[in-house]
Amino acid sequence: MDVNKWESNEELEYFREYLRIPSVHPNPNYDACLEFLQKQAKLLNLPVEVYYPLNKQNPVVILTWLGLEPELPTVLLNSHMDVVPVFPENWTHPPFGADIDEKGRIYARGTQDMKCVGMQYLAAIRSLIRHGVRCKRTIHISFVADEEMGGRQGMRPFVHTPEFRSLNVGFGLDEGLASPTEEFPVFYAERSVWRVYFKISGSAGHGSLLLPNTAGEKLNYILGKMMALRQVQVETLANNPELSIGDVTTINLTRVEGGVQSNVVPPQLTAGFDCRLALDVDHQEFEAKLHKWCEEAGGGIELEYEQKQPRVKPTSTDASNPYWLAFKKAIDDLDLKIKPQIFTGGTDSRYIRQVGIPALGFSPMNYTPVLLHDHDEYLQADIYLKGVEIYTKIISNVANV
Ligand SMILES: [Zn+2]
Repeated sequence: MDVNKWESNEELEYFREYLRIPSVHPNPNYDACLEFLQKQAKLLNLPVEVYYPLNKQNPVVILTWLGLEPELPTVLLNSHMDVVPVFPENWTHPPFGADIDEKGRIYARGTQDMKCVGMQYLAAIRSLIRHGVRCKRTIHISFVADEEMGGRQGMRPFVHTPEFRSLNVGFGLDEGLASPTEEFPVFYAERSVWRVYFKISGSAGHGSLLLPNTAGEKLNYILGKMMALRQVQVETLANNPELSIGDVTTINLTRVEGGVQSNVVPPQLTAGFDCRLALDVDHQEFEAKLHKWCEEAGGGIELEYEQKQPRVKPTSTDASNPYWLAFKKAIDDLDLKIKPQIFTGGTDSRYIRQVGIPALGFSPMNYTPVLLHDHDEYLQADIYLKGVEIYTKIISNVANV
């Protein structure tokens, strides 16, 4: 294997330089990202703007490649600059070293999630510019902060700013996931995340008695109902091989709190659930059901939501969406296999879709184990470079709709 061909590749150099910036939670410093991206903008001869939708700690960097018809709705190529924490002792390579091994595997936090995609967008645009290509639509390449914390200081407020509206975005691309097989997943929707706490009050007293209406009994009732609902979803998924996890509602008990000491019946117990509502769930009905169970359990239960996302319209993957057709044509022309599906977790795409803009989640990483947020996150150099080619085709297609 010729390691030198990877060591000396211009695009891999930029990618690795970006990976070496430790924009890592809990205190990501984005200054180095800004400096790096401004340098990239200069190399590409593209204008760059920095916005601060919420505060000075969380910038949004946008490079713009003007189209031949700039009055048309634009294409947004989004990625996030932040990465999740690392446990260096569990890594075989330094997590911010971007080492390449003899098989061309580049190791660093962010190789998959998602510094790869941000740099592949730029590499694709560099290639198009070098080939003298001009696209019909203007392209904005955005680099946002705080995605890994839910985008509350990044994309979520940004889509509601006049600056975002002035970008006039008609279609967005954002992150997907790696795939160990030949097939690439493409994400056109996300489930709605509800983090709900049942704050359960009950009769308190001595542990030697049989008091009525205790918090423990009520918790038992609620748990039974939630777990039964969970079981239905488990079976639905098991009985239909066509379905993937994004097609069903997931329910998990994630927190249980309460109690004073072991011989005292507590006045309050709290149970927290992470629920991801499938696209076909009626939110009002679901909430009414939770309230009904609280009453049936004996009352005195308050529902508190840490997160309660609205239902967001999925992006169409049919002829009604010309951007989808352009995307699909690129995929077909390159003879790639894709599987459109609903994303399991949450990405910034949901905020883009929430303001009515169609968006697809796609990271061109096939034959790659899914290592986001894991130790030894890596991406193989040739897969990365192939991804640049794929984006070159996709970008020129969707920007010429
Ligand atoms: Zn990500």
